Amino acid sequence: MSSFKRILLKLSGEVFGGGRVGVDPGVVDSIAHQIADVVRTGVQVCIVVGGGNFFRGVELQQSGMERERADYMGMLGTVMNCLALQDFCEQAGVPTRVQTAIEMRQVAEPYIPRRADRHMEKGRVVIFGAGSGMPYFSTDTVAAQRGLEMHVDALLMGKMGVDGVYDCDPKTNPGARKYDTLTYDEYLAKDLKIADAAAISLARDNDLPMIFFNLSTEGNILRVVNGEQIGTVVRK
Ligand code: UDP
Repeated sequence: MSSFKRILLKLSGEVFGGGRVGVDPGVVDSIAHQIADVVRTGVQVCIVVGGGNFFRGVELQQSGMERERADYMGMLGTVMNCLALQDFCEQAGVPTRVQTAIEMRQVAEPYIPRRADRHMEKGRVVIFGAGSGMPYFSTDTVAAQRGLEMHVDALLMGKMGVDGVYDCDPKTNPGARKYDTLTYDEYLAKDLKIADAAAISLARDNDLPMIFFNLSTEGNILRVVNGEQIGTVVRK
């Protein structure tokens, strides 16, 4: 039995691409099945989708583009991930709605918080795309904002191949130490990079727990929802 009634799952773009540009159908299918297992327990689920597997505004800016236009490309990239996830979730038997912060009525509903709330009460998974609709934001910050507006119990920050928050990058430092828990202030003081500071401070100011965990291990979303101590919990 989960202690959570409603959760927000943040999926970064790299999850969708399996480390490459574009969408890896095998990976998205596996995540959709993990989400289906959670929905069957009765926990309400909404999801914020990143887009780094297509475009990141900062990177396009470095190659000479205007930042704002590059950020809009980044936001549009997230919508492709939303549609892929919607497709695999529905194949796994989970009803979904995609809501985007930039209107595109042929493919998604616009972001309407009260409607999203109703969808979840009816057992539908709501997938939020196009970030905040505003340049200079990240989808991590949007995850904190949507999580607050949807009154979720926790933000589940799914990572690819990283099982929590470390004191330095575990891929390049074999001696890296993993934290089981951290306060928001400890996270910010150590200047850790797994989620951006704006997201952490929004969660801190509104007392919303964040759980960082490894999505690559099948069944981990359900483990977190069931209260198993995996990953790193960032809280007060
Ligand atoms: N983005 C934005 N405003 C937002 C959310 C995202 O401008 O509210 C843009 C930004 O360029 C970002 C890109 O969309 O680099 C993809 O999002 P993000 O980098 O957060 O994706 P992730 O790292 O989770 O894959």
